[in-house]
Amino acid sequence: MDHKSSFFKKADIALAIALLLLGGAVFALLQSGREAGAFAVVTVDGTEWGVYPLSEDRTIDIETPFGRNVLRIEDGAVRIEDADCPNRDCVGKGRISQTNQIILCLPHKLAVTIRSESDSGKEAPDAVSY
Ligand SMILES: [Zn+2]
Repeated sequence: MDHKSSFFKKADIALAIALLLLGGAVFALLQSGREAGAFAVVTVDGTEWGVYPLSEDRTIDIETPFGRNVLRIEDGAVRIEDADCPNRDCVGKGRISQTNQIILCLPHKLAVTIRSESDSGKEAPDAVSY
């Protein structure tokens, strides 16, 4: 193998790595759009109330100054099982389990969102309180 062809070989490898990285970035971007979530994040009036793993079946009673919601985590999905809000829209929303899905209870200023495992480390700056 002469000097020239080995140079092209290196360029090919660099190109392949670049394509792999690009592919990975696109894949990560698509994944962030929708994937099986790992956590249910509850916020009340814009403040994080609690983060609950979807892997653990449990019932969570959320009592806030705005009202009461009962969350049920089951089979990797979360739903609002009961609420004392007037229209009970949130109860009718059903189960969510994919990232970026959301259940809102507007009268109670409550939101349940799904977060993936990889998102768990990165909080929005205004949500961190030390
Ligand atoms: Zn509601």
